[in-house]
Amino acid sequence: MAKTTDQKNSRHIPGYRDIKERLGDYCEVEKTLPEDEIITQASRCLTCGTPFCHGYACPLANIIPEINEYIAMRQWKEALKLLLSTHPFPEFTARICPALCEGSCVLGINEEAVTIRQVEKMIVEMGFEKGWIKPRPPYMRRSEKIAVIGSGPSGLAAAERLNRKGYQVTVFEKELNPGGLLTYGIPNFKLDKQVVMRRINLMKDEGVLFECGITAGSDISYNYLKRHFSVVLITGGTEQPRDLDIRGRELNGIHFALDLLKAQNKRLIGEPLAAENDITARDKKVVVIGGGDTGSDCIGTVLRQGAKDVCQIEIMPRPPETRGDDNPWPLWPRIDRISSSHQEGGTRRWCVDTKRFEGSPPQGGVKLLHCCDVEWSHKEGKLLPVRLDDTDFTIEADLVFLALGFLGPGPNPLADTIGLERDEKGGILVDKNHMTSVPGVFSAGDIARGQSLVVRAIADGAAAAEDVDLQINK
Ligand SMILES: Cc1cc2nc3c(=O)[nH]c(=O)nc-3n(C[C@H](O)[C@H](O)[C@H](O)COP(=O)(O)OP(=O)(O)OC[C@H]3O[C@@H](n4cnc5c(N)ncnc54)[C@H](O)[C@@H]3O)c2cc1C
Repeated sequence: MAKTTDQKNSRHIPGYRDIKERLGDYCEVEKTLPEDEIITQASRCLTCGTPFCHGYACPLANIIPEINEYIAMRQWKEALKLLLSTHPFPEFTARICPALCEGSCVLGINEEAVTIRQVEKMIVEMGFEKGWIKPRPPYMRRSEKIAVIGSGPSGLAAAERLNRKGYQVTVFEKELNPGGLLTYGIPNFKLDKQVVMRRINLMKDEGVLFECGITAGSDISYNYLKRHFSVVLITGGTEQPRDLDIRGRELNGIHFALDLLKAQNKRLIGEPLAAENDITARDKKVVVIGGGDTGSDCIGTVLRQGAKDVCQIEIMPRPPETRGDDNPWPLWPRIDRISSSHQEGGTRRWCVDTKRFEGSPPQGGVKLLHCCDVEWSHKEGKLLPVRLDDTDFTIEADLVFLALGFLGPGPNPLADTIGLERDEKGGILVDKNHMTSVPGVFSAGDIARGQSLVVRAIADGAAAAEDVDLQINK
């Protein structure tokens, strides 16, 4: 167990499994603190009168101080009840949330924050283990049917909340399995797919219907949906990755990050992979362009696949180790984060721009990246990268992954046929009640709010469910 300070009552985090061991599998890397330690950690909570974790940071407004208080008193079942009152799926965020709550924990002003995410994990896992979390179908069924398009965290949250209110909910998903990026994007070593399927099965037992392998807008039309459902809620996510429009981009071996992550997740859940999607980094030199979390997920994945080496490059400067003066508490700390994948291997470089890719004839596979260093400077009120003279260098690569974020939803056959109003990035425009420009059609999650976090997608899906309910009962 890793201790962050020597104090008896300090923050303890569980750390990760041994690197050699974890590189040999795709199982979750994070360990769990023992029960007594979780109680000690929860007891560190100041139970603040104005809890920033709850009211300012957590998009779900989890009632964190009171949950911690229950744990300090060993009242696990009460804590679970309180946690589930605001949060439909704590088992997901307990594993993969950056823990916005911890960034604004009042204890963090002078000491290190309470390990809120770890406490949440033990509460929810104990709930499953002891059978406290079980299917709870609604007492009464209503006549109205709701179609949810997309089964990522926002669609799942909306479906769970609407089902609980008695609506007949069908979730349509174009992939073969539900879960959205929980299933196909986030690596198994961060979020085991069994954890996702455990929740989906619970929802099925509660009466939610899942129709997978169905693309709304092409396999089923809007007219079909309108005839069979009172409301359509679109939660299709952002699927269009940002590209890098430079010379050599057309070479073989240059892929979007999600293509790699999706292929590996499909392999693990036993889904068929078309030959052109069967990407693996075994014995390859890999470069990941993009220094964020998706890039880090690529590193962990290619190291497990047996990559020869991996280098991650980022155009932005390396963030500081501690909060800067312009980033005070209770703001989310913009600091350098070393992920479990970074610990496992590879090298990282910052302030690097990629000028062009070079390939090797005749197959045309990528072989080299031509790069240079940049410096960030203010120009006409904007902070811009400036390429530095005499800093050109090359990096060898057989595979390159572009982890540059997502532009927007991209073409969405349903939104396109209905003619929904979109913003300049293609996101679906909604009002404060999650209503789109077409009556009876609602939208939530990344497709409406832009690329974000699982916790925000869940919060938005749950809020959209309330709005749908209000609209129907008006
Ligand atoms: C690689 C990666 C790693 C990430 N890691 C983290 C992390 O560790 N922590 C975190 O908090 N956030 C993380 N995120 C962000 C997070 O996953 C997203 O913000 C979140 O999943 C968005 O949820 P959503 O429900 O809006 O969309 P999605 O999860 O994208 O789900 C949308 C679903 O809709 C389906 N769909 C789309 N169109 C149709 C249609 N016409 N018919 C039927 N189905 C359709 C899609 O197939 C998909 O399953 C990560 C993102 C990526 C890409």
